[in-house]
Amino acid sequence: MKYSIGVDIGGTKVAVAIVDQIGSIVKHRIIPTDLSIPPEQMIKRIIQVVNEVLRDDRFSHDVITGIGVGVPGPLDSRNGMVTCPPNLATWRDVPIKQIMEADLPYTVQLENDANAATLAEKWLGAGRNHEHVIYMTVSTGIGAGIFTDGRLLRGRNGNAGDIGHTVIDPSFGECSCGQKGCLEAIASGTAIARHGSTIVGEPVTTERVFRLYKEKDPRIVEYIDSVFRVLGTACVNLVNTFDAEIIIIGGGVSKVGKPLFETAQEYVSAYALNPMGRQAKVIPAELEQNSGVIGAAALCL
Ligand SMILES: [Zn+2]
Repeated sequence: MKYSIGVDIGGTKVAVAIVDQIGSIVKHRIIPTDLSIPPEQMIKRIIQVVNEVLRDDRFSHDVITGIGVGVPGPLDSRNGMVTCPPNLATWRDVPIKQIMEADLPYTVQLENDANAATLAEKWLGAGRNHEHVIYMTVSTGIGAGIFTDGRLLRGRNGNAGDIGHTVIDPSFGECSCGQKGCLEAIASGTAIARHGSTIVGEPVTTERVFRLYKEKDPRIVEYIDSVFRVLGTACVNLVNTFDAEIIIIGGGVSKVGKPLFETAQEYVSAYALNPMGRQAKVIPAELEQNSGVIGAAALCL
């Protein structure tokens, strides 16, 4: 049996796992992401955890195929650099591949976290029986990964799929990126909490907004239904642009479940441009919690 090491670096925690060639996690560790220390020091901690999980008779050097690392974008995957991710505010131009390879005897492959999760969903999750798969994560931010024609679509530096900053409706006002009306500024968890708070008249979380939605608070129902239609628009944009077969939606906002998936599906069935596109399915992610770390490991399997 061959194994690969997956490292999933997020804004709050880092997951490290050893994954076998059929996608099972055989060892798993989670440590908090400490943004108060320099990134180089945080990477040293991650290397220490990798060495700890490797301390096992099963994992001799020749059965480990490499280390896959998933990080929030933007990044430069070809050169192994984390460039300027908003979710890791202190990480600027960090040569993570070089730092890890200096201390570990394996090749390191870097990928943005949405792409890594896409690989995992395609390999073992909701996309396993399909060829043209898009995974969209709707969480604090919005991103997507595109798997088509037998491979992951990466683009020049590994940043393809940044659907969160495509413009949906400029009248919604400014996004953190400077444009007006980005998808992320309208339909991310962060945006839902912000706009929901304005409607309710006090600070509320995304979870509270969704609870009010399920309790049929009329102000919230109207607003959230409009957000779901916007996510449907994003799905149509993806189907039209990439001729996708399925759109998998994951991330915290997708937990609201049926109303989101029904609205997005109706939108795609009604408005995708070509008749085949209208048959594209919008479905929930299956691997949620571990998709990042499994997908990172899959980079080397
Ligand atoms: Zn934007």
